[in-house]
Amino acid sequence: MNKVSIVRYEKPGESVARAIELSGAFDRLKKGDTVFIKPNIVFWSKVVEMPAWGVITTTRVVEDVVRELRNRGAGKIIIAEGTVTTDPKDTTTGLHAFETLGYNELARTYDLTVKDIFDCTFKPVDLGDGVTLSFAKDLLNADLVVNLPVLKTHAQTKVSLGLKNLKGCIDKKGRKMCHSPSMIMDLEAHVAKLSSVVKNVATVIDGIYTLEKGPGFTGNARRSDILIASADMVSADIVGAAALGFDPADIRHLAIRCREQGMEPSLSSVEIVGETVESVASPHAWDYPYNPENTLPANMIKRGVTGLSLPKYDHSLCTYCSAIMGILQVAIGSAYQGTPFDKVQVLTGKMMMPDPYMHHTLLMGKCQVTLNKNNPDAKNPILVPGCPPDMNKLVEGIKKAGIDVDENIFKAFDMAPMLFLAKYAGKPEFTQDFYRLSPG
Ligand code: SF4
Repeated sequence: MNKVSIVRYEKPGESVARAIELSGAFDRLKKGDTVFIKPNIVFWSKVVEMPAWGVITTTRVVEDVVRELRNRGAGKIIIAEGTVTTDPKDTTTGLHAFETLGYNELARTYDLTVKDIFDCTFKPVDLGDGVTLSFAKDLLNADLVVNLPVLKTHAQTKVSLGLKNLKGCIDKKGRKMCHSPSMIMDLEAHVAKLSSVVKNVATVIDGIYTLEKGPGFTGNARRSDILIASADMVSADIVGAAALGFDPADIRHLAIRCREQGMEPSLSSVEIVGETVESVASPHAWDYPYNPENTLPANMIKRGVTGLSLPKYDHSLCTYCSAIMGILQVAIGSAYQGTPFDKVQVLTGKMMMPDPYMHHTLLMGKCQVTLNKNNPDAKNPILVPGCPPDMNKLVEGIKKAGIDVDENIFKAFDMAPMLFLAKYAGKPEFTQDFYRLSPG
């Protein structure tokens, strides 16, 4: 049975070291081994401060893990991450995150390399069932991978833990392929396959802050002070899922991977050391409510919006398009002045089909344009190409459908994270100190 430690975060250095020690997560590390560290910096803003709590791995955990690796004689250490951006040509957001989070200082202090994963060389790996994904060679060549996900929920896969964090080690094309329209080889089936490619993975799940309605800054963070560690990623995820209030068997990608490893997706499959699951677990909401027909999100129903169909995102919608959905909802919701829209539908992802009774069909992104541009059910089709979709064309398209959105909302896209900071104001437990190097 694989050991998983649960430790309350109390002190810099000590708590992470204890979680690693108790679980034996680094026991397979040999002196001089090359280590690849994968934190989670799923989104970043170089324009405004964003609420990073529960969204990205704390620098505290990254620094304490690095110190522990150095104490144990690790050789070359590489920290790599590839942040999602809405502009495919953006090469600076990730670098800005590394600098702000103290990674460059960490590199100087602990003699390690910090890399934007998209600057890595990628190598295709056949994962079976017709799935080939290209992984960063640095990951594949490492003696030990240290996986540092956040203890958070995810709007498509319920949780985003160790297995899901590995998706950030594949190239952009592969990330989009994971969001396949197949009902069998879907996102969860792809995520389940990711872990089969790397054998030696130590996982430390950072639950100093946990997140409801993740994975991004639109969710609700909690100060939870939980650390979960294991030398077995799947075992760590079982405990992580339980700590977020889920039955691990209900997490499809985890259940698939467990069964492939010959274990039950259940707490009875792991040996827990340190705190008990019961003492740290609390239910975390993951889903965004929609109307029963799944055509309008709750916030729009509250506003009384009619004449609009904005079907709920499905598993085929990539993170790149998802990042735009929040701002799209805000813009359309704000444009509603009480007069019903003229039966406008907005279709996203790779699966949605038009409702022939609507008057305008906005096809958002390359996938929808390809799928439905010639579909006779798509009335007055408005094409918004691009992958992710071009923001200017999106504004033009919505206006063409008769919705007078404020284009400044889209222009201020990079400022959006700031809007979500306000709810943490006056709560001292939400401090940026966890996202900076420890003093001294
Ligand atoms: S258009 Fe959107 S859903 Fe399609 S591949 Fe690009 S990002 Fe993914």
